[in-house]
Amino acid sequence: MIERTIFREEHHIFRETVRRFVDREIVPFHAQWEKDVPDQYGGMGLDYLFDVVVFEELWRSGASGPGFLIHTDLVATYLLSFGTEAQKRHWLPKMVSGEAIGSLGMTEPHAGSDLKAIRTRAVRDGDDFVINGQKVFISNGQLCDFVVLATKTDGSAGAKGVTLFIVESSRPGFQRGRNLEKIGMKAPVVETVLDWTVEYTSDRSVFGQKLANFQNTQFKLADLKTKATVARVFTDKCISLFMEGKLDPVDAAMAKMFTSELHCEAVDECLQLFGGWGYMCEYPIARAYVDARIVKIAGGSIEIMKTIIARHMFAQGGFALTKSG
Ligand SMILES: Cc1cc2nc3c(=O)[nH]c(=O)nc-3n(C[C@H](O)[C@H](O)[C@H](O)COP(=O)(O)OP(=O)(O)OC[C@H]3O[C@@H](n4cnc5c(N)ncnc54)[C@H](O)[C@@H]3O)c2cc1C
Repeated sequence: MIERTIFREEHHIFRETVRRFVDREIVPFHAQWEKDVPDQYGGMGLDYLFDVVVFEELWRSGASGPGFLIHTDLVATYLLSFGTEAQKRHWLPKMVSGEAIGSLGMTEPHAGSDLKAIRTRAVRDGDDFVINGQKVFISNGQLCDFVVLATKTDGSAGAKGVTLFIVESSRPGFQRGRNLEKIGMKAPVVETVLDWTVEYTSDRSVFGQKLANFQNTQFKLADLKTKATVARVFTDKCISLFMEGKLDPVDAAMAKMFTSELHCEAVDECLQLFGGWGYMCEYPIARAYVDARIVKIAGGSIEIMKTIIARHMFAQGGFALTKSG
């Protein structure tokens, strides 16, 4: 097997810590949290590989609920990139300690993929802005302390067009919600699901022999393992490029598209090998199946990823595609 080379010793040590934390502090309570919705989240200001470790360990354990990565990857990144010095000083330390939870408000009932179509408006009123509009699907929205909010402006906010505002939240009542992880690093999920399936099919007997002995089982698992390995090598390369500030949006789109499709394919094919038991919530594969479907939609649907890739291909060939999204 191709050995992973992007992580250093300190990342491995950190992974053990995260794994222990997830196993001890999240896994036993995750099902209950899904009913209750927790309000305890946190973030760490280390290099990006530490973030990758947290993400991989959460997926490995099937703990899809905590919205850490919305908070750390998306909100903190927007704040760092576009916030004023005062906003950064006010919010970032609280985000690191977990005192303040951030969310990202872009999607509206009539505008998701087509972000330019948003209708929420910010109108200047003296020193303030009055914001009116509707947002939907906002992960962490039910428990956040502030929202990085996309609005249209009349130009008085500095630029005409879509502008990001940081809006303090009044912490409305809890609602049930499941978070999404936007980054296309789904190879660990596929590998975890494959491990479960190898274990299950080695144990389950059908027609007098172990399910693992059927060629169909072996071929399906071998196919998926191969694709997972290809995905891992490619995404590890993308992570390294990202760390160097060299990740191209087209390669990022390819990683998101390929791993999202593989994620859904793997949980579907593996669930099939669990038979009816795979449909029962007591089995983690059922939960993984439910959690998987969103990855092809949220954070940019796979069609949007394909549009990015195709535009680049035709542009390289000297042909500008007419706008379709
Ligand atoms: C669980 C969950 C969490 C979310 N969290 C957040 C969040 O924290 N913040 C936030 O702002 N949003 C969030 N979203 C919203 C998410 O980003 C949007 O659902 C996503 O961008 C798609 O937008 P839409 O649902 O309006 O679908 P639409 O834009 O209506 O698209 C529907 C489908 O049309 C197809 N399509 C769209 N455009 C094209 C095109 N150009 N070419 C071909 N086909 C196309 C795709 O198949 C797409 O899935 C979340 C959504 C979910 C379900």
